[in-house]
Amino acid sequence: MLELRNISTYYGNIQALKGIDLVIDRGEIITLIGANGAGKSTTLMSISGVVPPREGELVFEGQSLLGVDPDRIVGRGISQVPEGRRIFPHLTVRENIDMGALLRRDRDGIKRDLEYVYSLFPILAERRGQAGGTLSGGEQQMLAISRAIMARPKLLLLDEPSLGLAPLIVQQIFEIISQINSENGTTIFLVEQNANQALKVAHRGYVMENGRITLSDTAANLLENP
Ligand code: ADP
Ligand code: ADP
Repeated sequence: MLELRNISTYYGNIQALKGIDLVIDRGEIITLIGANGAGKSTTLMSISGVVPPREGELVFEGQSLLGVDPDRIVGRGISQVPEGRRIFPHLTVRENIDMGALLRRDRDGIKRDLEYVYSLFPILAERRGQAGGTLSGGEQQMLAISRAIMARPKLLLLDEPSLGLAPLIVQQIFEIISQINSENGTTIFLVEQNANQALKVAHRGYVMENGRITLSDTAANLLENP
């Protein structure tokens, strides 16, 4: 579904990614793990075009993603939940969720998907009229995921969904990530510092160090031999 070939990405003169090769197959949950500063977020932002790669190839469903404006990748079937969630604090929960469906015209489908996200996250249904900014960190993460899946993405990019959240909430969110994958076949690319949790929901994992992929294996093998 998605292939990164020899991707190198720079911030000015600093080379953050040093020739990344990575493949995501349809229907998988792939996790990219590694220490802080390894280049995980940069990999995700290279895919979404927020930080365009300087070298290499990026092919999604047979078409190059290079040069595609990050605001337009949703039209290609990719939704992104950036680090830090970035919900709209002054809009209501419902309005935040609706933002994800802006490009869709299938009213009935949108309605059904709204019911679906409310069934995944009942707390959001309860709080639908509240401003997004009044939610807890975990609820904001749920809201950001809900907004992203309202676009019905083929590929969902998640940047550190566990960041700053209590273990119980993390577990809950990861279970729902798994559910979104198994119920809808949504392919998921999960960037995480929390390797243990991520490997429990992922099918395969890539380990990153210093801008390079150093290991790639099934999640089960990576869990056994850390
Ligand atoms: P991770 O997500 O694994 O924590 P990042 O992709 O955020 O790592 O960072 C990879 C490297 O790029 C780090 O050395 C980081 O300091 C550097 N970096 C990230 N963002 C910027 C930026 N905006 N300007 C300069 N260097 C950056
Ligand atoms: P339908 O096409 O009748 O909605 P599906 O099997 O495609 O049935 O979807 C089952 C449920 O999952 C529905 O409630 C649908 O709205 C929702 N759904 C389908 N695809 C996605 C997706 N990519 N992201 C989020 N929800 C989805």
